[in-house]
Amino acid sequence: MDVSASVKDMPVRGEHPALDLVNTTFIRGGLRGQLIDVLRTPADLDEWIADHRGPLDLVEPYPALDGPDGPAALAAFLELREALRRLLRATVDGESPTAADVTAVNSAARACVDWIELPPSADGPPLRRSSSADPATVLRARVARTAVELLTGPDRALLRACPAPGCILFYLRSHPRRAWCSPACGTRVRVARHSRRHGVDPSHDR
Ligand SMILES: [Zn+2]
Repeated sequence: MDVSASVKDMPVRGEHPALDLVNTTFIRGGLRGQLIDVLRTPADLDEWIADHRGPLDLVEPYPALDGPDGPAALAAFLELREALRRLLRATVDGESPTAADVTAVNSAARACVDWIELPPSADGPPLRRSSSADPATVLRARVARTAVELLTGPDRALLRACPAPGCILFYLRSHPRRAWCSPACGTRVRVARHSRRHGVDPSHDR
């Protein structure tokens, strides 16, 4: 595994947070490429979180997970990621999800509830409250909630798995002409088609 890959190397960033989480694993190098996972350490997860503070409504400063509890937090987060990956796959395939994966997302969503309260003066901005003080639990709950909103809302119909050979990424078909997760995948497929037409082994294309 290429240890130099970081969150910034993700081929697709800035999608829906649930997709951005699943897309932290990708294949570098096309059909015969290498599986890359950019979430290998708690520090990697902190970098991913920094990218998603806004979409996940995380109030600054969000505590770093790269501490003594970091490995456990990362492991729990990756479990959620894999459940989401299988749910996304089932959705694009038109298949029923497994009960275990639905339960994994629902448990994460339920583990932390947010609400707002009046300040003592009943004036000024509301006080934000959470049922959990554990930042990893808060984070998983926020991601799980966005996933529930995605899979139960209008964007569900836009969910796609990139059809390029050797690509494992998901995206929302945000405009009708979007046929690939990224322009790079579209280019790769066009080059491979061109190579096949000219008798070149397309698997050598990247
Ligand atoms: Zn792709």
